[in-house]
Amino acid sequence: MTPEAGNDSRNSDAGSLHVAIVGAGPAGLMAAEVLARAGCAVSVYDRMPSPARKFLIAGRGGLNLTHSESRAPFLARYGGASDWLSPLIDAFPPARLREWASGLGEPTFVGSSGRVFPKSFKASPLLRAWLARLDALGVRLNSRHRWLGWNRDGALCFAAPEGECEVATEAVLLALGGASWPRLGSDGGWAEILREEGVEIAPLRPANSGVRIDWSAPFSARFKGAPLKRIALTLGQARVRGEAMVDGGGLEGGAVYALSGALREAIAREGTATLHVDLRPDVSEEALAIRLAASRKGESMANRLRKAAGLSPAAAGLLREAGALPAEPAALAQRIKALPLKATGMAGLERAISTAGGITRAMVDEQLMLTARPGVFVAGEMLDWEAPTGGYLLQACFATGHAAACGVLARLGLGLPEPWRGRWDAGEAAAVARE
Ligand SMILES: Cc1cc2nc3c(=O)[nH]c(=O)nc-3n(C[C@H](O)[C@H](O)[C@H](O)COP(=O)(O)OP(=O)(O)OC[C@H]3O[C@@H](n4cnc5c(N)ncnc54)[C@H](O)[C@@H]3O)c2cc1C
Repeated sequence: MTPEAGNDSRNSDAGSLHVAIVGAGPAGLMAAEVLARAGCAVSVYDRMPSPARKFLIAGRGGLNLTHSESRAPFLARYGGASDWLSPLIDAFPPARLREWASGLGEPTFVGSSGRVFPKSFKASPLLRAWLARLDALGVRLNSRHRWLGWNRDGALCFAAPEGECEVATEAVLLALGGASWPRLGSDGGWAEILREEGVEIAPLRPANSGVRIDWSAPFSARFKGAPLKRIALTLGQARVRGEAMVDGGGLEGGAVYALSGALREAIAREGTATLHVDLRPDVSEEALAIRLAASRKGESMANRLRKAAGLSPAAAGLLREAGALPAEPAALAQRIKALPLKATGMAGLERAISTAGGITRAMVDEQLMLTARPGVFVAGEMLDWEAPTGGYLLQACFATGHAAACGVLARLGLGLPEPWRGRWDAGEAAAVARE
């Protein structure tokens, strides 16, 4: 595939400027595209045998690329990091990401939840087209190269299949990801290397992760893997509607992920946290009590829960996890609407969707260059921000990859890419029918 016409802003003297990008995830590959378009000689290094493995896994869930929300609520999803990320996302907003995907032959659509997906619902065709484009732009991809740090002369050191090698370049861009799902390549091993360089790293912790609950053995054995559909979870003032899934050691799924930041903080503070589950969020407690009271005399509790309360076997089983069930309809309705579950910890990083913590804002300049290591830029999930699922993670990875690449160009004295002139919430969105 040839590069998109009219989008090239090559600098005639840039070809001799060699930039190394370490990490071939969405952040690193976006940076590679920007730098190669500007004419730099770009080499990408990754420890895995093939690039972007986490991006491909994200495709299994339909590849939620970004979200169609308007600017203010969108940026608010980044919480405390929102004013840091806002100018970076403004320069590479959702509409631009959608145009980019479309340019690679993968038009997007807005789902009923407002989330944006490629029409193919897959990551592999998009990645294939992207890698072909990068190849056409001259980007060299070096797989099985694990970055080890720098030598005394400032060259990058890698463990490669043929032994250790050193690479000296004009600029370096690290996009090494967080530490979740380490078997996909990003294991957070970079944190120790950078700490030794004097870079402050906020501890890497699970984000968008499941929560641990000590189930009884019979419940765990019977309902492991069972979905809990159309529920609401409450933690303090925060209430989320959605789905969850019982796993052997607790609960996971969208509704839990949405509360996982608050759960993580509460557990760190108090040791445990109480999560309340509303198993019938569409029915009021009073209406539920009336339905339960109207059930036939002599009917078993299991039948009452199934027929009158409309609970699935897993939901009914969960209800019993909080102790013996009250027979009295009002008390039973109250239990169904606010079932307390004691969360004893967060599921490990190895199962989390993303990572909280990372290189703190104070460690980089506005263009994402490490002040402790001038000439080294950083991007993606290795930075200290977190966001819920919904496309906000990939959006920030693409945008910070783009921003760090612009920082490299500015440092090398090369022309920046044309600024994007579309509307933040426009792009091809208008032309795409809603689901
Ligand atoms: C199951 C799952 C589903 C997800 N679904 C979505 C979704 O639908 N929408 C969304 O927005 N987000 C989703 N995410 C999150 C999203 O995939 C990540 O936020 C994103 O991939 C991070 O991009 P990155 O480029 O910063 O890092 P990564 O994608 O993690 O890439 C970092 C790269 O660096 C390499 N690397 C690490 N250390 C070294 C080293 N020492 N030497 C050389 N190379 C190294 C790794 O091999 C890796 O290829 C999902 C995540 C998971 C786990």
